[in-house]
Amino acid sequence: MNLKQLPLLMTPGPTQVRENVRHARSVEMTNPDLDPSFFKFYKETCGCLSDFLHTRNPVLILGGEGMLGLDAACVSLIEPGDRVLVIENGLFGEGFSDLVRLYGAVPVLFRGDRKREIDVAALESFLKKDSDFKLATIVHCDTPSGVLNELDKICPLLKSFGILTVVDAVSSMVGEEIFVDLWKIDICIGASQKGFSAPPGLTFLSISPDAYGVMESRKTPIASFYGNLWIWKNYEQEFWFPYSPPASDIYGFSVAVSNVLEEDRIVFRHQSIAKAVRSAILKTGLSLHLKSGYCATVTVMDVPGELDAEQLVRQILDEENVLIGGCFGYLKGKVIRIGHMGENARSDFVAKALFSIQKVLERNGIHLKEDMRTVFLEELEKECDEFKKK
Ligand SMILES: *Cc1c(COP(=O)(O)O)cnc(C)c1O
Repeated sequence: MNLKQLPLLMTPGPTQVRENVRHARSVEMTNPDLDPSFFKFYKETCGCLSDFLHTRNPVLILGGEGMLGLDAACVSLIEPGDRVLVIENGLFGEGFSDLVRLYGAVPVLFRGDRKREIDVAALESFLKKDSDFKLATIVHCDTPSGVLNELDKICPLLKSFGILTVVDAVSSMVGEEIFVDLWKIDICIGASQKGFSAPPGLTFLSISPDAYGVMESRKTPIASFYGNLWIWKNYEQEFWFPYSPPASDIYGFSVAVSNVLEEDRIVFRHQSIAKAVRSAILKTGLSLHLKSGYCATVTVMDVPGELDAEQLVRQILDEENVLIGGCFGYLKGKVIRIGHMGENARSDFVAKALFSIQKVLERNGIHLKEDMRTVFLEELEKECDEFKKK
């Protein structure tokens, strides 16, 4: 691979990785199982993630990327015959039903409009008729469409019906605030390669006492070794890891977490960029895929005319050396996605991505009303002026 020609990475994960994170991954190795200083370091990194999520619940970092977190949460909580409420308005939301079924539970789907956030009032009426669920699954930002769900309302509502909540917040984190304790989230799942801007390879979960209680009172054993969260229950007191932690990945990730925690206005950076991207799309005559429920980490845009989104993404890569996201499932070929999360969410990178998208659209005969990059930068400036006035 010719590293000089690597494209500008603007996908909704994996994201660009800052130099200090890359360097941290190359420091000298210890034995992470036997060296007490690694144990302390692991616990401190988990503690930083608890702070980040605004929770007193312990956080575990597991070696394996985002999907492992979803899998581990499901296999650890679910027993055959359980009823699980799968709240879905997108591909990741719906995907939980496969996991749930795999572990012998009965998924019951609450389906939302795929172009909007989940309708909380409709969910509440649904729950008034049927709330006999051991747990519910929900995605914070469903990345293929970029739709953001109101966890602040949904999770406390589920909890008021005695339903445990498993939240996939892999792609919303860092760009959107998450309050695990306030919102009563039992298991909240993140990963290294989205907003935190570390390479893929790690997932992490916060686990509530109620979630551990459910694991403890299981009648059947957890049907996984690697995904078994219960074996971690006393690891701190026992000073013991169930398996060798991927030390280099965690060194890098820990620096990425510090990068996030050290930046004062990181959520504002994401929110202002996302807003300016949406304005740039609308003011130049293009269209956003969603009607509402926009997430600050990714913008999804319908492809104009008869163009094929996959081909457009390919052309933007080949001709402009910028890598943006296409999509899959029902959105394949229909939309393009700009990932402005973590290190991607910098005005110069986003401006370059918009400029390249416009150039390639024009080469395909689609002419925009204005210059997207200029509109984006003007809007961003307005956002910042507004912010300063506050
Ligand atoms: C990226 C992502 C994951 C992890 O999925 P991978 O494709 O395995 O990286 C899980 N949930 C959501 C919503 C994501 O965006």
